[in-house]
Amino acid sequence: MSAKDAPPPLPEPLLVEVADSHTHLDMQSGTVEEALARAAAVGVTTVVQVGCDVKGSQWAAETAAAHPSVHAAVALHPNEAPRIVLGDPDGWSRQGAREAGGDAALDDALAEIDRLAALPHVLGVGETGLDFFRTGPEGMAAQERSFRAHIEIAKRHGKTLVIHDREAHADVLRVLDEEGAPERTVFHCYSGDAEMAEICAAEGYYMSFAGNMTFKNAQPLRDALAVAPLDLVLVETDAPFLTPAPFRGRPNAPYLIPVTVRAMAAVRGIDENAMAEALAVNTARAFDY
Ligand SMILES: [Zn+2]
Ligand SMILES: [Zn+2]
Repeated sequence: MSAKDAPPPLPEPLLVEVADSHTHLDMQSGTVEEALARAAAVGVTTVVQVGCDVKGSQWAAETAAAHPSVHAAVALHPNEAPRIVLGDPDGWSRQGAREAGGDAALDDALAEIDRLAALPHVLGVGETGLDFFRTGPEGMAAQERSFRAHIEIAKRHGKTLVIHDREAHADVLRVLDEEGAPERTVFHCYSGDAEMAEICAAEGYYMSFAGNMTFKNAQPLRDALAVAPLDLVLVETDAPFLTPAPFRGRPNAPYLIPVTVRAMAAVRGIDENAMAEALAVNTARAFDY
């Protein structure tokens, strides 16, 4: 393994314990216990494990049941729903190549998400939403139908809705408005600008910032963070993706949250303890734990 691919070193611990509000432990190397121990060593004592398909959501629920520091969110990812309906001959999804299952297969998968959403260790329904970056026009109907179904599931079970919004801001906001958003809604890996942050603030939507807010070209994200109400701001890794600078391109994991927390504190012009305190309180309120 070259230094470029090596896991980044452990950052200085945070003095105030925080949560990683969105991670994918099942896509990271090493065991869950190792990941949780490394994270806890630097003050990241809670993680929200997010499922992206039926198997991943079942795994998230089981992992949360087995570890008090893990909470689960369950869903079909916005790019997963079209694959279920239309098929995935290339096997791009983690469940591998599959035949087109049509609307009935999507209904079956949603029924399993609904069952999992009722479990006590499952605090969130997501990640769901719209992704116009990876899903083309042929998949949009399935994607939007799945998004609407997840909103309904979240509301019926009183769980937090976790939104994945990639190049789909206006349509995500429109569908939320049409369906009526759940009491607690989180935009994971917030990717809007300052103007959208004002809209989210008015609706009471949480904005969760990931490691990409540290990237050189991410000034619009930092502008959004600067104007977002502090009590609606969360932090996440979305690991193994979006490793914060200066480790961009190397594997991400929950133990790197302090790097992003410090960058966020700098944008807000507050010290890292005040930033961490707000993030800890906000995440507990956002996921109702
Ligand atoms: Zn996402
Ligand atoms: Zn994610």
